[in-house]
Amino acid sequence: MRVVSLGSGSSGNALLVEAGPQGRTKLLVDAGLSGSLLHERLRKVNVHPSQIQGVLVTHEHSDHVLGLPLLMKRYAIPVIADVHTCKAIEDGILSGSWRTDSGALVSTPSIDAPGAMALSTGPEIQKSQEPTRCMQPLSAGIRRMLGDIEVISFPISHDAIAPCGYLLTAGGCRICVVTDSGEVTAEMLTYIGKADLLIMEANHDRERLRRGPYPQMLKNRILSSTGHLSNDQTADAVLRTWRSDGVRWLWLAHISRTNNTPSLALKSVRTRLAAAGVNLAHIHISTLPPGMGSVWDSTQLWHTESLWEMSS
Ligand SMILES: [Zn+2]
Ligand SMILES: [Zn+2]
Repeated sequence: MRVVSLGSGSSGNALLVEAGPQGRTKLLVDAGLSGSLLHERLRKVNVHPSQIQGVLVTHEHSDHVLGLPLLMKRYAIPVIADVHTCKAIEDGILSGSWRTDSGALVSTPSIDAPGAMALSTGPEIQKSQEPTRCMQPLSAGIRRMLGDIEVISFPISHDAIAPCGYLLTAGGCRICVVTDSGEVTAEMLTYIGKADLLIMEANHDRERLRRGPYPQMLKNRILSSTGHLSNDQTADAVLRTWRSDGVRWLWLAHISRTNNTPSLALKSVRTRLAAAGVNLAHIHISTLPPGMGSVWDSTQLWHTESLWEMSS
């Protein structure tokens, strides 16, 4: 399994997940980058949008769905999401606007806009005049095989219609994606605890948010149970599922540029884990930038100390 972060944060979220021989199954988790940016960042890892077999969508905020019109209309790529999220995406495409994470309205990008034709140079281009045909509803808790990857979604707590996280399994490795949630529920913990690679939001530092420039209403919304996770909430979730053979890689995602910094997120999470007695040598923690970010390859799993110890 190979995982590449193509972007993380309020400017756009997208993860590429590949599995199977020669990475033949290629999925995205969210596609919140403009069509041209998505195209450009996929090209950096030698993937053409037409090779994507599906996009798993967490929720309908624009920083998670902005690139969908390109993928659906030009390449007829299926969108897999909760049935209510599918409807919200469809409504956004039909009405021409989506909500941003902070509630503002933004226009749905048109793939027929000037400049968009530059994207039409890839192989096997299909055009779907009916993007709604691309929708494949997936209910929370239902397992589905998408090529070589087993997918299961679970509810999270955010002010969108039916927000969810995902647990993806392939070749005995598991990755869990949890971004945009105001709290960590017991159900979320059962999935978080199964991950080898956990990609989890560390959106803000509470104090920095409280003292920062955002209007009080927006601060209240971010701090609410349907807003975003703080550095401390994320560290606590990792602690509550901690086993020495549990999460080995932690990517801190969706980091606010105003109310957090990558070094503050890292320091907060590390300090809280260490204070609770976690040996930090057992977990690799890094932060995801708004641009191209980390690459994770599951073959790393077979080089970890404890697995060598187990086999000896
Ligand atoms: Zn978001
Ligand atoms: Zn959101």
